[in-house]
Amino acid sequence: MNDYERSCYGKTRFLIRAHAKQRASTIRREGGGHFRTYQCRHCGLWHLGNLPGRASHLRTTPQGVYHLKDLTT
Ligand SMILES: [Zn+2]
Repeated sequence: MNDYERSCYGKTRFLIRAHAKQRASTIRREGGGHFRTYQCRHCGLWHLGNLPGRASHLRTTPQGVYHLKDLTT
């Protein structure tokens, strides 16, 4: 996976940062995790991304993403 695929491809694009932040807070309120907003170097628009470090606490399975702590209980 290259940088473009990781940071841009397939992601929702927001024209302005306020909309991205609004979406991030909605996701957080619904228990979907914490996201940061960043301006994309590829398309110049705004995307949502996982906070650095938090991705290491997630494990992807064919059924979806689970928190590691949930797998050990
Ligand atoms: Zn982009």
